[in-house]
Amino acid sequence: MTENNCSVCNSQEWGKSYSYFSPLNEKYKAKVSLCKVCGHGQIVPMINAQRISYNNEMFLGGKYISSNEREKAKNKKLNVLKERLSDLNLTNKKVLDIGAGEGWSIPFFNSSGAKYFAIEPIDSLAMKIKKTSGIIISSDIFEVNKKYESTFDLVVFRHIIEHLPEPAKALEVINRLLVDDGLLYIAAPNASFPDLKKGFSTSFLRPVHVQYFNSPNLVRLLELSGFVVTTLDDGKEIYILAQKKKNNTSGKYQNTYDKQKKIFDDAFLYSLKKDIYCNFKQMIKICLLKIRFLKK
Ligand SMILES: [Zn+2]
Repeated sequence: MTENNCSVCNSQEWGKSYSYFSPLNEKYKAKVSLCKVCGHGQIVPMINAQRISYNNEMFLGGKYISSNEREKAKNKKLNVLKERLSDLNLTNKKVLDIGAGEGWSIPFFNSSGAKYFAIEPIDSLAMKIKKTSGIIISSDIFEVNKKYESTFDLVVFRHIIEHLPEPAKALEVINRLLVDDGLLYIAAPNASFPDLKKGFSTSFLRPVHVQYFNSPNLVRLLELSGFVVTTLDDGKEIYILAQKKKNNTSGKYQNTYDKQKKIFDDAFLYSLKKDIYCNFKQMIKICLLKIRFLKK
């Protein structure tokens, strides 16, 4: 696969693109294009892994978020996870949290009686997980030791897939890490319902997100990667539970291009004023944070 193939259907036919501006990377301009064959959105040309990890570190390492904001977000995430997974019997089950962050989900899995394992690339966050009794099995999903294949009963893969240049490869790894009747919990922002609270090209389209899935395309990619979807919630966030596919059936897939294009066009127009205002506000905020950071 070359870097400009669609991550879902492998086509190279790109339709409309949407460019965005990132105040954190002034020289860094990128555009998200929609695949004409399936309607999936991704950064074209795809940026290299080094650039992606730099962007992730800038945004996800917490350098630009206040501790108060982080605490609030943590509690919200924890409540959503509890709501979705509390019906599962996780006693003595092995859970692998991929891109675990600081391990905010550990209290839930500990109280469910599960054994918690994690993959976390950012050192400072991995240290926090170790301190909270979590076991780090790797810093990189593509470098997990073979001994962990067919090990995990549940893999948590939330808000990671939209950061990966080759999401299918990651799903194939997860498939191998799961036991036969294991479960994959996956969540990602929904391109069908872009969150426009902070704007479209200043917030919904963002440097750390290289993929923009709608639910038909995420289901399609999961099926092509050896999964069968058992639960799907098509809200602002796509949330899916999937199991390993037992036989090799493949379905017919719809082209969501026209629908997706209309959604992005509408979102762009709706957010135009807000995008200009948010750019300005974000820049001031970042300047203030930088000054505060320098003073320390
Ligand atoms: Zn495609």
